Amino acid sequence: MAETVIALAGNPNSGKTTLFNAFTGSHQHVGNYPGVTVEKKEGYYSHNSRQYKIVDLPGTYSMTAYSMEELVARDYLVNEKPALVINIVDAANLERNLYLSVQFMEMGVPILIALNMIDVAKNRGIMIDTQALSDIMGLPVVPTIARRGEGREDLSRVVERMIDKQSQTVPLNISYGSDVDQALDEMEKLITVANFLTDLYPPRWTALKYLESDEQIITIGRQTDSELSRNLEDKRRRLTHHLENTMDLHPEEVIADHRYGFIRSLLVKNVVTIEKDQDRLFLSDRIDKVLTNRFAGPLIMAAVLFGLYHITFTYSEYPVQWLNSFFGWLSSLVDVFVPDGLVKSMIVSGVIDGVGGVLGFVPLIMFMFFGISFLEDSGYMARVAYMLDRVFRIFGLHGTSVMAFIVSGGIAGGCAVPGIMATRTLRSPKERLATILTVPFMNCGAKLPVFALLTAAFFSNNQAMVMFIITIGAWVGALLVAKLLRSTVIRGEPTPFVMELPPYRLPTFKGLCIHTWERTWQYIKKAGTVILGISIILWALMTFPNLPQSETGQFESQRKTLQIEAPEATGNPGLQEQLALIDAAEAESALRYSFAGRIGTRLEYISQWAGFDWRTNIALVGGFAAKEVVVSTLGTAYSLGEVAPEKSGSLADQLAAAPGWRPLTAVALIIFTMFYAPCSVSVVCIAKEAGSWKWGAFSMIFNTSLAFCLSVIVYQIGTMVGL
Ligand code: GDP
Ligand code: MG
Repeated sequence: MAETVIALAGNPNSGKTTLFNAFTGSHQHVGNYPGVTVEKKEGYYSHNSRQYKIVDLPGTYSMTAYSMEELVARDYLVNEKPALVINIVDAANLERNLYLSVQFMEMGVPILIALNMIDVAKNRGIMIDTQALSDIMGLPVVPTIARRGEGREDLSRVVERMIDKQSQTVPLNISYGSDVDQALDEMEKLITVANFLTDLYPPRWTALKYLESDEQIITIGRQTDSELSRNLEDKRRRLTHHLENTMDLHPEEVIADHRYGFIRSLLVKNVVTIEKDQDRLFLSDRIDKVLTNRFAGPLIMAAVLFGLYHITFTYSEYPVQWLNSFFGWLSSLVDVFVPDGLVKSMIVSGVIDGVGGVLGFVPLIMFMFFGISFLEDSGYMARVAYMLDRVFRIFGLHGTSVMAFIVSGGIAGGCAVPGIMATRTLRSPKERLATILTVPFMNCGAKLPVFALLTAAFFSNNQAMVMFIITIGAWVGALLVAKLLRSTVIRGEPTPFVMELPPYRLPTFKGLCIHTWERTWQYIKKAGTVILGISIILWALMTFPNLPQSETGQFESQRKTLQIEAPEATGNPGLQEQLALIDAAEAESALRYSFAGRIGTRLEYISQWAGFDWRTNIALVGGFAAKEVVVSTLGTAYSLGEVAPEKSGSLADQLAAAPGWRPLTAVALIIFTMFYAPCSVSVVCIAKEAGSWKWGAFSMIFNTSLAFCLSVIVYQIGTMVGL
């Protein structure tokens, strides 16, 4: 059997050499001179009649090639691939020491932690719960006092057990904030596809080193594949530029910040109790004492959310009205200058009333995104996730799921697709699947205009409150479904969790504006491309086939009779109104006769239970392509159908005035929109990430059934009590 090689690694002065001596018995110089361990020291020890070779690596604080020691240590780990690394951590300086441990974990190096100098720590009043630390980091932690040889036997036993188990180490994935994560994702993909340095490093780690401007990796990279390397360096430059603009920070700083955040979350998880020195806590920690307090925290969170919605709806009201008037004006312009016919109908009903309906909410979206950017950039969003973690475990989800929920629109205005991607950081496949299947319940940016439209039409005095209730409802629904799934189809044990808590930072106005604009632009772009395309298709489905001659003729003759009976010349005052009524009736017949109209009408047999008429059905079927389409389709349907004869006011006004619509209908529709099948892109993404089309189909069928049952229950009970 080949000899088993074990490496000792840790910060300078953490006690590596002392532990090395305790193991090997060989006499080495123990001292503080810098560079004393730069040359490699090897020794042997045996345990249960097996021999181990043990190597004392130079002390380092980091795994980036900033110093000679770091390079030596890293090269050894990468090239020699020791079977196991004993990472010596100074218990008295836990936070700083774990910074290196986390990097080993990111590199995918198999490690165990020797928690050294616990005597010193104890003297300083620092108590560390090793079991909790081990659980939370997912690796063995053995307390030691190297100078007295204490813990050596325990270490040998754990080493033997780990070597025998030969489990594969999965590199740790930390979130470094959305900007860095996005760059990392892209780079990781390129690296994996090209098999770039993958025999040496995990792909994500290589990407990370490029972002950290690691000279050694970049040099090796250039020699291996100069074109790909240039591509990666380009990505780093772009990210650097972006981070400098928005946060005035370099990627290295952002990455380090998040690593420390990741570690600090260990310390708030009751792993470490400090008996003295309370006033040495950082400002961030002091703020956290209030903001993540068990009782005050959730109340503050609720207030923040409510405030966000209140500000959004209050201040966006006028701009939204202006935009709506603008689109109205545009329609009338087209009405005057484009001759009657299909083209005009397409431009007015398909493009302006459809896409315009979606674009009309740009100001609202912008305000919402501004608020969300503030919460993210300041670091508060991470606290929200941290607090919700406590709740999540009860429902069989993982703390990391919270971030996926927030990305998907947990507060408002996200997107399920990146949310589903974000679940990749979950290590347990079952928790991951449960998260993937429940994130689409969040209120993504595409559902926002639907809610905004319905609340503007029926609850214009309480928009913030309604939005707040919708948000809570989405979370409650998602959690209950998660619990249901986790106790039936995807049963399994929970796994421990560590959450990054980056330090609080006052966001810069410029940074907020850039982040807001990036998101808003995505929304506008989608409205101008995907939604435009779907709108035109749906317009066609709502226009063709045309009403047959026999029917149009009937309306025509009705008009003629009217005009003969009461010729205009006599100045009959009711004539115009009666003519308009006939026009409206004809438009409605035409819409019903169309392809989409027939589908909508058929569905009415079932949908009437939830109070949805055939027009709403068309919108909901269209909404499967993308949820904004619910708004654009209602816009087109009401525009083609000319429900309110004089056709004045915004879509919201039209809905409020339309027969068959009342607040209860709006509530049922909101509930249905919240829970029904994820949009087509999300379904594809679910199938891909869950590894089977089965789950894509499951989410469509299950979610739609759930949504339908809920909206029927609400509608029927509401009707019974007379709402
Ligand atoms: P290295 O730089 O990581 O190799 O650290 P050393 O092994 O040279 O140890 C640095 C200093 O810490 C030495 O003076 C050791 O005697 C001391 N030391 C090591 N382990 C312990 C321990 O568990 N408790 C205490 N109190 N001192 C220790
Ligand atoms: Mg040493």
